Amino acid sequence: MASTVPSGPSDYKSVLATVDQGGRRKWVEARIVWGRWRRLRYLLAIPLIAFYCAIPFVRIGGNPAFQIDLAARKLWIAGVAFWPQDLSYFVILVLLGIVGTLLTVAWLGRVFCGWFCPHNVFLEMLFRPVEHLLLGGPGSPQKTAWWRAALMWAVFGLIAGGLANAGTAIFIGEGAFRHHLLLDWAAHPYATVFWAVLFGIILFNFGWFREQTCTIVCPYGRFQTAMLDPHTLAVVYDSKRGEPRGHIQRTGDQRPATSDQRPAASDQRPAASGPLGDCIDCGLCVRVCPTGIDIRNGNQLECLHCTACIDACDTIMDKVGRPRGLVRFASEEQLAGRKRQVLRPRNILYALVIIVLSSLLAWRLMGRTDVLVAALTQTAVPVREADPDGRDCVRAVLPLSLVNRTGEALQAGITLPGLDARVVLPQPVITLAPGQRTTTMPIIYIPAGRFSGRHLDVEVEVRDPAGRLLGRATVGVRTP
Ligand code: SF4
Ligand code: SF4
Repeated sequence: MASTVPSGPSDYKSVLATVDQGGRRKWVEARIVWGRWRRLRYLLAIPLIAFYCAIPFVRIGGNPAFQIDLAARKLWIAGVAFWPQDLSYFVILVLLGIVGTLLTVAWLGRVFCGWFCPHNVFLEMLFRPVEHLLLGGPGSPQKTAWWRAALMWAVFGLIAGGLANAGTAIFIGEGAFRHHLLLDWAAHPYATVFWAVLFGIILFNFGWFREQTCTIVCPYGRFQTAMLDPHTLAVVYDSKRGEPRGHIQRTGDQRPATSDQRPAASDQRPAASGPLGDCIDCGLCVRVCPTGIDIRNGNQLECLHCTACIDACDTIMDKVGRPRGLVRFASEEQLAGRKRQVLRPRNILYALVIIVLSSLLAWRLMGRTDVLVAALTQTAVPVREADPDGRDCVRAVLPLSLVNRTGEALQAGITLPGLDARVVLPQPVITLAPGQRTTTMPIIYIPAGRFSGRHLDVEVEVRDPAGRLLGRATVGVRTP
């Protein structure tokens, strides 16, 4: 890992800062600078890391807090199972996610990327600090010690193994770990191969690929960047205050500049002839940037709003006796000396849509029944015949799928309310184990006089022996 300070090409708008003229990657070895923003990020990152690692192993009411159970075609969220038939909930949730993202981006910019995205949380708060601890910062002579590099990769491997455990548990459940499923390679080859592939991807991503995930792979960053507007909060360089940039010494101090205050390798500007601005062109804001960009060039697609450059520049401003905030969180409007509008039509519209969607989701969840009832394709043709009481009826077989959405065993019977119909079940009471899906074929007799045409929509209710409604569905029945 050769120490390379990204050179910040002059055509920064069309060339990635981490790619050289020949298209080869320039390794970003970002420095770590402590400051109030990094402390805040750690305060958030610690619970986030705990959450990301623990959530696949947490149970709520005996059920997984979060699990994608592909084999059983179930998704567990907060201990509640959702089935493919619950698609409407997901449509609302996805819409909520999209509009929520639009609102967050319009209001706070790429706050998700820099502060919540698992990639950046783990890279900047875990992997990079481990690297700096064991190999030292950029240019450290410790980097040449092979045993340090080996130790670093061993620690990376341990962390990647833990993350692969969590990632695998999302799909196979925490119970599989309790039963040492992954250790029995022969019996569970798919789980083991999945774990191994995930482990490899995590190690590759955090050990080598790093910022390229954000700048090359992730479409979310491009989408977010395109959503920024002049009122969006972003990490910005105050060029009015900072320019013309140039090397200065601390106020009243004749000492030579520190290494942090030497002009950056990117400095290709002519020396300023008049009074200088506050930027001393030390380049520290570039050296700490995990995507290798120079924030002084303005807002760029690669900027994650991680705030590392704010801490870096504040440190320098403290040293040279200038006010902090040369690089800071602000909108373009604020930089221009105007007021930032939070309550603008775009944000209000997004908020209204979120309120509507949330209300719809809450209403749907409140009406969610314990048993999911779905009609299957009718294969038997209805016939006209007398029911056991001798009434002239239409007899039909009604294939139904019943899914117990709860964590308890349920007993269920089937009724057709308001039709004076008779239902004959293959078994008097259907027993549904927790989470069980079953198919039943009740024979129904509907008085022929109930049909005004060739088709009748029949409401099917599933009730427990005490008469409590467990689920319902509407099924179409036609006359012979
Ligand atoms: S420019 Fe600043 S906020 Fe943006 S990614 Fe680089 S260090 Fe983070
Ligand atoms: S850290 Fe601040 S003073 Fe140094 S180059 Fe960046 S903006 Fe200028």
